[in-house]
Amino acid sequence: MFENKTVVIKFGTSVLTQGSNLLSKPHILDFVRQIKKLIDNKFNIIIVSSGAIAAGREHLNFPTLSNKIAYKQMLASVGQSQLMSEWAKYFSIYDLNIGQMLLTRADLEDRKRYLNAKDLLDELIVNDIIPIINENDAVATTEIKVGDNDNLSASVAVLANAKKLLMLTDQSGLFEENPTKNPDAKLIRSVHKIDHTTYAISQGSSTKLGTGGMFTKIQAAEVACLSGIEVQIASGFEENIILDTILRKKSIGTTFEPSTLPIEKRKSWILSGPISSGDIFLDEGANSAILNNGKSLLSKGIISVKGTFERGDVVTLFYKNQQIAKGITRYSSVDVKKIMQKHSSEIKNILTYNYGSEVIHRDDLVITNK
Ligand code: GLU
Repeated sequence: MFENKTVVIKFGTSVLTQGSNLLSKPHILDFVRQIKKLIDNKFNIIIVSSGAIAAGREHLNFPTLSNKIAYKQMLASVGQSQLMSEWAKYFSIYDLNIGQMLLTRADLEDRKRYLNAKDLLDELIVNDIIPIINENDAVATTEIKVGDNDNLSASVAVLANAKKLLMLTDQSGLFEENPTKNPDAKLIRSVHKIDHTTYAISQGSSTKLGTGGMFTKIQAAEVACLSGIEVQIASGFEENIILDTILRKKSIGTTFEPSTLPIEKRKSWILSGPISSGDIFLDEGANSAILNNGKSLLSKGIISVKGTFERGDVVTLFYKNQQIAKGITRYSSVDVKKIMQKHSSEIKNILTYNYGSEVIHRDDLVITNK
């Protein structure tokens, strides 16, 4: 049987600097040594590497920081090439080539660009070139940014149909409480299902180093797990962590079990690509029809709308302030406000046009509250 051996490894800035303000060359070399072993064992490795901004600051000899966006973009622009040259240098010791991929949310949001990115990723892998991915910080403005490499790594894992996503960070995993405040805080070894309590824990336990923190790691884990990808969060400060987690399959850190009924690819894209443009609040009947009976969302079951969205945008569905699903809406927020709580048969009369009786068709709907 075909065994999926594609693994995405995400390196946070703090891992690449080992907590200092300089890229740690010995550690990057050591990560490369471990990755080479995985490649020898027929794994396909995709790297999501942070550290561009840190590398930029290092290269420019730690200039005084400015809040100007263009200034950060400049640091990323200088640092990205430094970062890549480090990776390239160490992989070349093992005669391995790397390929740079810089993405933004805009590349993931648009289905065509998303598929183009997928083609490049596949091509690199087929040709035994190791993709090294980062956000295109030098040109991406806030509106088109993923914003953190945790969520980016989940999108990449979905894009690559990966078997596993390993997020290496400066903590040993997800703790029940903030480990810096309570040294006795318990590490959660395994998470069966991510829900609001997992998010609550992650907010309390984060030490807020790096861009993301634990909260964005849970967001990333949720997207990956719903797409059938196993996720492990582990410390990038532990020796042989890559070999132990991937090759020796040791249960180190926190492991998130993948859904046994992974959603189809297009639905994975709904979760990992576009940013949600607005919220739709449902009544009890619609909530139950969607969650229990796999039905589409009809106008009748909508009680309110938040935000402005257009037909074709991704929106988030809520029941009593609890997120239950995401989906692609067939009607804009202006239209939904006019047709909510009305029967589907009335849509044509109210709007003078009709895009179908469902506001969100079940094929365009992903349940997040599983
Ligand atoms: N893209 C940023 C960098 O390379 C890092 C973002 C993150 O760590 O989440 O500096």
